[in-house]
Amino acid sequence: MAMKPSSNIWIRRQQCPCGDWKCYIKYEGDDLASISSQHVKTESATSSSSSEAAFTPYVGQIFRSDDDAFEYYSSFARKNGFSIRKARSTESQNLGIYRRDFVCYRSGFNQPRKKANVEHPRERKSVRCGCDAKLYLTKEIVDGVTQWYVSQFSNVHNHELLEDDQVRLLPAYRKIHEQDQERILLLSKAGFPVNRIVKVLELEKGVQPGQLPFIEKDVRNFVRTCKKAVQENDALLTEKRENDMLELVEACKAMAERDPDFIYDYTTDENEKVENIAWSYGNSVRAFTVFGDVVSFDTTYRSITYGLLLGVWFGIDNHGKEILLGCVLLQDESSHSLSWALQSFVRFMRGRHPQTILTDIDSGLRDAIARELPNTKHVMCMWHVLSKLSSWFSLHLGPQYADFKADFDMLCHLENMEDFEHQWSLLVAQYGLGSDKHLALLYSCRASWPLSYIRSYFLARMMTAEFSQYLESFLKRILSTQNCLQVFFEQVSIVANSGNQIRDRMHYMHIKTCMPIEEHARSILTPYAFHLLQHELVLAMQYAITEMANGSFLVRHYKKMEGERLVIWIPDDEQIHCSCKEFEQSGILCRHSLRVLVMKNFFQLPEKYFLLRWRLESSLVPTDDHSIQSSNDECAQAFHSLAATLLTESLVSKERFDYVHRGLTGLLESVRNTPLADEHASNLAANNVTKGYPDDEIEAGGTEVVTDINNLGLQHFDQRIKWDWKLITDIVNCKGDRQMISFKSKLRASVIWLTELIDLMKAYNDTKFHSVC
Ligand SMILES: [Zn+2]
Ligand SMILES: [Zn+2]
Ligand SMILES: [Zn+2]
Repeated sequence: MAMKPSSNIWIRRQQCPCGDWKCYIKYEGDDLASISSQHVKTESATSSSSSEAAFTPYVGQIFRSDDDAFEYYSSFARKNGFSIRKARSTESQNLGIYRRDFVCYRSGFNQPRKKANVEHPRERKSVRCGCDAKLYLTKEIVDGVTQWYVSQFSNVHNHELLEDDQVRLLPAYRKIHEQDQERILLLSKAGFPVNRIVKVLELEKGVQPGQLPFIEKDVRNFVRTCKKAVQENDALLTEKRENDMLELVEACKAMAERDPDFIYDYTTDENEKVENIAWSYGNSVRAFTVFGDVVSFDTTYRSITYGLLLGVWFGIDNHGKEILLGCVLLQDESSHSLSWALQSFVRFMRGRHPQTILTDIDSGLRDAIARELPNTKHVMCMWHVLSKLSSWFSLHLGPQYADFKADFDMLCHLENMEDFEHQWSLLVAQYGLGSDKHLALLYSCRASWPLSYIRSYFLARMMTAEFSQYLESFLKRILSTQNCLQVFFEQVSIVANSGNQIRDRMHYMHIKTCMPIEEHARSILTPYAFHLLQHELVLAMQYAITEMANGSFLVRHYKKMEGERLVIWIPDDEQIHCSCKEFEQSGILCRHSLRVLVMKNFFQLPEKYFLLRWRLESSLVPTDDHSIQSSNDECAQAFHSLAATLLTESLVSKERFDYVHRGLTGLLESVRNTPLADEHASNLAANNVTKGYPDDEIEAGGTEVVTDINNLGLQHFDQRIKWDWKLITDIVNCKGDRQMISFKSKLRASVIWLTELIDLMKAYNDTKFHSVC
């Protein structure tokens, strides 16, 4: 049995943060422990032919080969609660093997052992009881074709037959398929004890405990038998690992020659073998100068093929997107290796330390961060904490777990440290978890995860569920199956250099409040940051303020009694501080502060409250956001105006309203189903104007719209509507850039539809049109 050391398999680290391998870590919302689990997903059914071979064999039955017959009889046996084995075969010079005997697994009697078995000195009770159930085959050649027929068959047993659940466990039916064998060896090499290997496989295959086609003992035997092969493979793997690490270093060297901004570093052991390697890109270093305030250091994955831990540094840009800041591959997860990783990172980033670093729960990492980044706040991401709860507590707490989870959630979100301490002791007492090591672990690092302890530290919104999903999909992209480290390296470089540039969506910044603060903020912030601020601004209107004697303010929601905030306003240098600490944490002013600033007659926010990291001007890739914004503005105005008309007209009668409502719902759906930009744009380009609409309709489409409107005789429409309509048709007809084309094709559909709608409304003709705006 040889293991193919060809593919690089990344799995999530499975050692529990408490240091124990035996804690069973299941990742919530992720049933697969391994990204490359497609390797093991293709497992075939235990007895593939069982369903079609349930018929009882009979004397005279013919098979093409003795193997076919064995398989058939074996399936029959399995269905009937026993298993079979090959007993005897008879051979002749002319015919070769011409007779085969298959018998019940309990046929015959145990032979006394000839010599003492050192490994199993204990005499085991034999299952053999002289059962006479059997199937004998004889070979014949008919018209030159070999076939086997059943010459004897008996299904009379002198013992009990087993139930399905027991028969499954007979040695004959327990089978480790080749792909499982590979996986078992890899896990075994990675240091997994046999019982955990079984659990990992159950998890990956999504089967209940004990439902694999083999049992723990088989895995143990298999690993033992393969030890020799494994050792040989080990030598191969070690060689491959050494070669691949060298290749990776070479690839880095070559990259550094091509791109002077690329940086890397590595360490070697006493034999000059490469141990650890880290690298980063020019783009990453540039990004770090603006967005290096908060970094996430992900160490979730390790390669079991290479025995390397992968560390990836991420940042978040002003558009709320992840940026790859660097990568590291480490021999082990010791605090020493992790320290080297952090030192390299700081060196790459020209000595600058981040304000905050986000990681998983990891005490080695905690120590390394304390040593290497003494002034950086270490935050253990809430999602990492929460994702482990069920593995840690659900089994132990049983039905109480749901309540525990709810209490724990509440505790995470408490704002005040004293409350946290108090509630924590209550939680420990209530669920009798005083001696639980995982709860103790969480408590020992409480400075790093509950909101009450981290709320005044800057996180740049990297601890949101949205961002964690970004990271996960990013990692999956770079960890999809590869053959070697060099290919992995290339993949990371591609993703790093494209991922940092693509702004996948065009965000339209729509004004909601008409407040000058909002308009001003829109000209400064990216759409991502603007929408966050806008949300706070909209909500600010729901808060009441009371001025205190000392000049500070109490801010409270107009309906709620709790959640009162204290806002301190220092007029001399326009400083504002709120007890909710939102600005400290996200860099976006909170509703409470905004409420006070509005009251203080601010029509623009003070400059310092627009952090550089959230500004449009900080974009790494210059985008023409302003011109997109202004063309979007025009479209939006036109739509607003149309929508206002529609609303006014449809409110006149219930029939009209229902009609418009139905129509708009349909319109919305068909707009959503319209193919997106590129598809359509290329169609447009290929056909000069467009395809997808019949030619005559298209060319005429735009003008017809205008004609229609003019012919409607709607003098009662005021000039504004005509202007809006003209604008839309102009946009539709303009020979704009390619980016506009897809938008236009959507708009065209809307215009045609709206025209019909207005036309039909005119047909109602029972009410006078009102002028709008
Ligand atoms: Zn543990
Ligand atoms: Zn039997
Ligand atoms: Zn606040």
